Amino acid sequence: MNLILLGGPGAGKGTQAKLIVSKYNIPQISTGDMLREAVAKQTELGKKAKEYMDRGELVPDEVVIGIVKERLAQPDCEKGFILDGFPRTLKQAEALDKILEELGKKIDAVINIAVPEDEIVKRIVNRRTCKKCGAVYHLIYNPPKEPGKCDKCGGELYQRDDDKEETVKERIRVYKAQTEPLIDYYSKKGLVYNVDGTKSIEGVFEEIKKILDKFA
Ligand code: AMP
Repeated sequence: MNLILLGGPGAGKGTQAKLIVSKYNIPQISTGDMLREAVAKQTELGKKAKEYMDRGELVPDEVVIGIVKERLAQPDCEKGFILDGFPRTLKQAEALDKILEELGKKIDAVINIAVPEDEIVKRIVNRRTCKKCGAVYHLIYNPPKEPGKCDKCGGELYQRDDDKEETVKERIRVYKAQTEPLIDYYSKKGLVYNVDGTKSIEGVFEEIKKILDKFA
């Protein structure tokens, strides 16, 4: 099962991707997580990506396309994958078509998680992420049992640099201009399934499972 998760910043892509990983046993490919890891390790890629990420802008297409191409060729993607946060531009979507064609694969479904803009800002400024395992919390809707500490691994929770309110506004603007057109791109291919992202985490996952059970 080869999937794409679409949705604005804070729509719940990462959270739902992790639930899909545990139920369907396919890897999550999050370009955001891969870039944050490169930033933390201060690799050449990380240094280049950081300045764009801190401004809430997109990292150049060639950079992200290169990372995804390498990742999709790994053996664990044989049984399927979930792309989370990629593609984000039309150029990335076209490059993905080419990569998949070369690998003899195709996308089965594009899950579009829709959340209104005012809700997105509220969600993101309260988001906290585990430094160690990447688990995501919300200070009000999904708080950790012990403040500042991950329930799953005990790691330290932090606020992503790009989750500050000013940067979130820019990320929403970028999403509307560059990523939203992809809904149309994939709708024309008959691949889009819309999900109401304002429901609870479990409620959204129920909707997603109904869609995915057709492909599993
Ligand atoms: P995310 O964790 O998906 O919200 O991504 C965080 C940031 O990483 C984005 O605001 C971008 O700066 C960068 N990024 C992640 N995925 C992509 C992508 N597919 N194309 C360009 N930039 C990306």
